[in-house]
Amino acid sequence: MRGEDVKHIAKVLRLRAGDAVQLCDGAGNECDAVIASVAPDAVTFDTQPWSRAKTESETRVTLFQCLPKAGKMETIIQKCVELGASAFVPVQSERCVVVLKPPYAGRIERWQRVSEEAAKQSRRGVIPTVFEPVALDRLSFAEFDAVFAAYENERTVSLKTALRTHPGKRIAIVVGPEGGFSEAEIGTLVRKGAVSVSLGPRILRTETAGMAMTAQILYEVEP
Ligand code: SAH
Repeated sequence: MRGEDVKHIAKVLRLRAGDAVQLCDGAGNECDAVIASVAPDAVTFDTQPWSRAKTESETRVTLFQCLPKAGKMETIIQKCVELGASAFVPVQSERCVVVLKPPYAGRIERWQRVSEEAAKQSRRGVIPTVFEPVALDRLSFAEFDAVFAAYENERTVSLKTALRTHPGKRIAIVVGPEGGFSEAEIGTLVRKGAVSVSLGPRILRTETAGMAMTAQILYEVEP
């Protein structure tokens, strides 16, 4: 092993030869290992056989989060990674207070780092990807089995019932900004294949909605 993780092992965690660690390849595999050697630029391990990470669900939840006010995206990413979300797509919508302008690199890198730290903390087998922001009317859900858009004015369909009528392993969830979705926007999302769902009788803050949906979906589908 080389790079940042070596510094972390040697300088921050101060691990030495003989210490036990758990390795993860970032692609959903993990193994138990013992440190064989620590040098300033490389760490070597004696590894046990690799296996699929137990922390990864068979159901992939991707959160399409309309850009919230400053700082909230970090919280959303951190908590949703802990809860088991697999990817994040920041979305620019009509009522977003924050308007992101390219180049996005700095911001995405920071969010990706938040994801990585949360993934390590939660012993995730993959580091969920944070994608570049997309405008709501340019979203495509082609790669998903089911898409649930949380709409505060939805009165009929709950996430619970929608999950049963639209099962699948690749699930997209869409959450509006502080000001919510306009009617036109929810219309656009539904035309693109989303099911408009209610998260219950109480209005949640935008940063709570994605966390609640991730937890509810994985609660429903995990053994
Ligand atoms: N400003 C709006 C609330 C927006 S809440 C109002 O006062 O009515 C921010 C986002 O969280 C919403 O766009 C929606 O995606 C989600 N959300 C919050 N509570 C919800 C609920 N009870 N049902 C469905 N979606 C909800």
